[in-house]
Amino acid sequence: MIDYHIHTRHSIDARGTIDEYCEQALKLKLEEICITNHCELDPERNDSLIRFDDQPRVLTRNGLLRLQDEIFRARDAYKKKGLSVKFGLEVGYYKGIESRLEILIKDIEFDFILGGIHCLDHICIDSSREHPEYFDFHSAERLLENYYVALEDLVQSSSFNSVAHFDVYKKYGLGFYGEKIRNFPESMVRNVIKLMKEKGVALEINTAGMRKIDEFYPAPDILRIARDEGLEMITLGSDAHRPEELGCDIKKAIAYIKSFGFEKIYRFEQKNPISVKI
Ligand SMILES: [Zn+2]
Ligand SMILES: [Zn+2]
Repeated sequence: MIDYHIHTRHSIDARGTIDEYCEQALKLKLEEICITNHCELDPERNDSLIRFDDQPRVLTRNGLLRLQDEIFRARDAYKKKGLSVKFGLEVGYYKGIESRLEILIKDIEFDFILGGIHCLDHICIDSSREHPEYFDFHSAERLLENYYVALEDLVQSSSFNSVAHFDVYKKYGLGFYGEKIRNFPESMVRNVIKLMKEKGVALEINTAGMRKIDEFYPAPDILRIARDEGLEMITLGSDAHRPEELGCDIKKAIAYIKSFGFEKIYRFEQKNPISVKI
């Protein structure tokens, strides 16, 4: 079993040291974990932060190099114990981020870069506190349209190995708009999936939704489109923000994708995909 979406306490909304996660992974008999802390780069927001020594600091290249050192130390220590530790990043995408991101991560030895939409119009739609600032002024249809335009830009940017929590808007959208938030624009979703296939970008099955709304990201209707379009690359992640959440519902997620006929998941090494039979 592997888990490719994990936040250690370097993410300001998470807790747990790298070692605590590694110990938990050994306990759960995971074979590989990929640590993917947040990287938010929107200059209009004040959340481009990373935590070191219990203090939030502005995320810089030096910070990422320090994080790399810490993860590589764990990688070497836990290799002997039979656990593979990979170095990843979860980037909150908005259009125009590409060059900034490229400069920030150049020559840093990431294995895996996840991209996700957290913000629309610089408002975090994935935040319990902030989402009404956006939802109050947009219909469900408009939100969905704007979200999938942003997601298409994310895939088009070629900056990412996998798309995180594909339909994350339903986390607060279900409570706010009700069932109509499920009426995603099918042609837009299909185009995004086709583009992912063309560009070799994976689709993440994210189990965090199970802990919030009792369903995976993405929904079955989206997974069906992915299968029909022949998208093969799937990654799996718990989006753990504390060690107890590591590996949560990953077994269930494997059963979920198998039920759609997927036979492989993917892990990454220096951003190169490697398939694993499930
Ligand atoms: Zn995310
Ligand atoms: Zn995450």
